[in-house]
Amino acid sequence: MIVALLLLILGAVYLFWKYPSLRKTWYWLPRKGWVVVTYHHIDTREMSDPQFPFTITPQMFEKHLLFLKQNGYTPISQEETIRTLQTGRSFVQKPVLLTFDDGHADNYTHLFPLLQKYQVPALIFLITDNIGTPGYLTWQQVQEMQKSGLVAFGSHTCSHRRLRDLPEEEIVREITQSKKVLEEKLGVPAVSFCYPFGAGSHDKHVRPHVLKAGYLLDFSTQKGINPWPWKGKKSIKRTSPIAWETLWDYHLQLTRGRNRL
Ligand SMILES: [Zn+2]
Repeated sequence: MIVALLLLILGAVYLFWKYPSLRKTWYWLPRKGWVVVTYHHIDTREMSDPQFPFTITPQMFEKHLLFLKQNGYTPISQEETIRTLQTGRSFVQKPVLLTFDDGHADNYTHLFPLLQKYQVPALIFLITDNIGTPGYLTWQQVQEMQKSGLVAFGSHTCSHRRLRDLPEEEIVREITQSKKVLEEKLGVPAVSFCYPFGAGSHDKHVRPHVLKAGYLLDFSTQKGINPWPWKGKKSIKRTSPIAWETLWDYHLQLTRGRNRL
């Protein structure tokens, strides 16, 4: 009996190793709920370049936007999410929130025009120490995007270090100081927080500080789909498209929370 089970497991491992396409999650049951998509760069770099798995070309990103539209998804804003969190109600069908980590300069040059073209809201997480440094957004660009009403901004800490590894007072400073800076510059409460590298999102010593600082939404890098309406009990799961993936992969990301094992 044990030998048969062992052979079965070994056989499955062999098949997954031999045929990478089997690692796709198409055979998982689709899940309903709130999908939060993680992006980083939207830029024109070589798609197959393994150096840049987190760079989606503007052409591909536009295909993502059209895919959402054609398949009945509703891109929602941070504001809509908060409203749902506070009222416990939502009439939105197939809600999707598009998030962008790190605040790269291409979010202004390549992403913003597409958000305007399709009138799709987004949430960008800024590393406050990096704003205005080479490769990152400037405050002027951030403020212009905010004024459009399409883009909201959240904190991705001051310096993008793994919070879990820092001493307590540094953790608190990264969480509270970045919030203060964003609020001073943008004139609205900073209510969203994204853990650098996802580290600390499920940590007993980190998450309570985030909630205590006054953030209402905290975003992890854990893969998956969230319940909707969102109740805020845990860190928010996200799904993360990679440069060389197809629209079929995007469909799996949106319905399974990931496209492969
Ligand atoms: Zn990051």
